[in-house]
Amino acid sequence: MHELAITDSIIKQAITEAQKHNAQRINKIKLKIGVASAIIPNCVEFYFDILKKNTIAENAKLDFEIVPIVIKCPQCQSQVQITPENGEKLNSKLLGCECNAGIELIEGNDVLIEYIDIE
Ligand SMILES: [Zn+2]
Repeated sequence: MHELAITDSIIKQAITEAQKHNAQRINKIKLKIGVASAIIPNCVEFYFDILKKNTIAENAKLDFEIVPIVIKCPQCQSQVQITPENGEKLNSKLLGCECNAGIELIEGNDVLIEYIDIE
């Protein structure tokens, strides 16, 4: 259900950005969706088609890139990308370091606009 709020915020951000550049319309919005964000692209697309009506994004297309989860050791900064193969053991051992300082999620948790195509 939070796809509605996220889609609303994406459209508003895109329109604000387009207006800064005096754009007449938005052709495309490219999104990066983190695997851990639990956002379903089809849902975003569904709300997008409703919310874009009567805005400068009315004819805009959505494009998605799914971003994998990346974790980091807060001490030595080692990074590892989580894949379906290693994802079950999501712990500090995965980083291959001896710090035992826990893990920090640095990517894959957000929904971001990568770029917008305007004219
Ligand atoms: Zn470490």
